[in-house]
Formats: sequence, structure tokens, C-alpha cells
Amino acid sequence: MNMELSRRQFLAGSGAGLAGTTIAALGFGDVESAHAVSIRPFKLAQTKEARSTCPYCAVSCGMVIFSAQSKSAPGKMEIVHIEGDADHPVNRGTLCPKGSAALDYIRSETRVKYPMYRKPGANKFERVSWDFAMERIAKLMKDDRDQNFIEKNNDGTTVNRWTTMAFLSGSSCTNETGWLTWKVARGLGLLQLENQARI
Ligand code: SF4
Repeated sequence: MNMELSRRQFLAGSGAGLAGTTIAALGFGDVESAHAVSIRPFKLAQTKEARSTCPYCAVSCGMVIFSAQSKSAPGKMEIVHIEGDADHPVNRGTLCPKGSAALDYIRSETRVKYPMYRKPGANKFERVSWDFAMERIAKLMKDDRDQNFIEKNNDGTTVNRWTTMAFLSGSSCTNETGWLTWKVARGLGLLQLENQARI
């Protein structure tokens, strides 16, 4: 009988609770209580989960990002933990060392979070709006294309090339974003289209 009770409790317990439960079966209930108090609560129990994609390389591993109420900024959420997404078909829960260290670069003081602009002659960057950044980029691209677009080569053959500009895309883009990027770049006549993919 004692053996049966002990086995049931053994199966009911898991992890750190296992030792305490087994001890209780032997008649050490107080020891079990004291042991239970000493166990820290599961650190992700009060967090919110969001699924995302590692931005580092073309493998595009799935991540689960956990956030909790910030201790330093009351009322705000902050990311407290990141791990591989076990349901993701690409990585099945694994992350390489770079992906595993994602929390560090998210919290890095040197992380660029906004469009930044250094005025001509200035020695530092300043934050600007997305509207400003997009308009500035579009204007510089148009000016350069107007000046350097090659419609025909020396033989008179239509080539429609814009060789003074390059386009850097992201390897973690979806198929649809990649397709759109390709169409925009090639539609403008760009020949240099690159990204950080390692495949
Ligand atoms: S292989 Fe590493 S760097 Fe590349 S997406 Fe996966 S976790 Fe990120």
C-alpha cells in the first residue's frame, strides 16, 4: 500500500516538487512545505507572449517574445525573455547563439530605433520623423536617377539602367515583401540589389 501511494505521488510530482512530494510520503510534511516555499515561481507565468521572427539572417527562425510590466517605467511593458518557437516549421524551438542573444541587442543602448539624420556639416545625428526620412530618401533617389539613368547603351539598344544606386533589402522579409522589393528595384532600373542572406 505504501509502495502504491509513493508511486502515485511520484507520478503527480515533477521537477523540483518531486523531491518534496516523495519526502512527504515518508512522513516529512513540514519539510515539504518548507521546500515548496523555497521554490521560485515560474518566471514567465505573468508575461504576455508574442510571436516574431529573428532579424539576423535568412534562416528567419521563429521566436516567442515574452513581456512583462516594466519595473523602471511603470505602466509600460518591457521584453524580459526570448526563446525559439517550438511550433515554428523553420527552427522547431531552436535558436543559434545570435538569436539566443536577441534580448541583448533589443536592450542595447546603441540600438537605432528611429530614423536618424545628420545635417550637412553637423557632427551628430538627430531623430527625425518617418515622413521626413522617406521624403528625403525619395528626393535623393529621384535626383540621382534623373541625372544618371541610362536609357540606351552605345549601340542604341534600350537598357533602362540606373547604375549609381544600390538597394539593400532584408533577408527576413516574407516572400511577398521580397517579390515587391524586387519589382520596385528592377522597375527603377537598379542592377545592384543585395541583402544579408547567407543562402
Ligand atoms: S539561424 Fe540564428 S541568426 Fe539566423 S534566424 Fe535563426 S536564430 Fe536568427
